[in-house]
Amino acid sequence: MELLFWKVNMIIYDIRFWIYRHSPSNLNIDKHVKLQIQHGLVYSDLCPKRCPCGCKEQVEHDKDYMGYQIMEYSVKCKKCGAGLGHWAYGYWQV
Ligand SMILES: [Zn+2]
Repeated sequence: MELLFWKVNMIIYDIRFWIYRHSPSNLNIDKHVKLQIQHGLVYSDLCPKRCPCGCKEQVEHDKDYMGYQIMEYSVKCKKCGAGLGHWAYGYWQV
């Protein structure tokens, strides 16, 4: 039952993510993402690569579980504590 709930959640999230990525108001976000990739701060899937301060070490925090399955977590810089990204349901977010 929990697995089914998780799968339904994934589908809802996929749809929300698709709408988010394709809405015209997010063109500026796409530009912002391209710049971050160009500067080597994130990978093409938005996975954080390094902090603008130069530190490559990261700390995972705010982990959210459903059963044993991790659903969401945030990543911050180990050195300066800046928020670098948020991962939820299989995707990295800006
Ligand atoms: Zn930093």
